[in-house]
Amino acid sequence: MLSIARLVVGYVSTNCYIVCNEQEGSCVIVDPGDNAAGIIKTMKDRNTEPVAILLTHGHFDHILAVPELTGAYPDIQVYAYEAEKALLTDAGLNETRMIRKPMTLDSVRYLKDGEELTLLGAVWRVISTPGHTAGSCCYYLPEEGILFSGDTLFDGDCGRTDLPTGNSSAILHSIREILMKLPDETQVLPGHETFTTIGRERRQNIVMRMNWA
Ligand SMILES: [Zn+2]
Repeated sequence: MLSIARLVVGYVSTNCYIVCNEQEGSCVIVDPGDNAAGIIKTMKDRNTEPVAILLTHGHFDHILAVPELTGAYPDIQVYAYEAEKALLTDAGLNETRMIRKPMTLDSVRYLKDGEELTLLGAVWRVISTPGHTAGSCCYYLPEEGILFSGDTLFDGDCGRTDLPTGNSSAILHSIREILMKLPDETQVLPGHETFTTIGRERRQNIVMRMNWA
């Protein structure tokens, strides 16, 4: 059984998730966008040690705390979808230069679409969902019925597509044709704002009524 803590971090209130296996005392950090000290304190308070960092995409507000965390926990692996290498290795594209904290990430393990990781005793499936950025992905835990949707799918809305490598018809396709294939009861944990479910988004999301393609 996994438990999930959410920290809202950084300039644009990004959701960072700390997913814990309490029996093992281990956790996975999804999108550590800022406030490494707060993330470390939360893990210490819960008596848990990170085994991995998973990135849904490369924007500054999802990656800024990575260097400090990998400094504090040198054994942990950082993962991202392979098509996001362009952003993670370019401080202009990932917008860290814009906020005057230019940063790139070098030691990332790049994942393929459909690849499955076993972390915390659970399967984490990578789902490529281009649109917000070309290499945006979601992480789906089929047995737990949980989706980390990054900035692809929000409660009622989707991520912006006007930043480098963004594409509005691609995000429309990613949500309608890929994410909406998941079961209605899937819990959606987005990169900003509140939790939702696939069923709720099927009924209410603006993307389901739009024609951008
Ligand atoms: Zn983003």
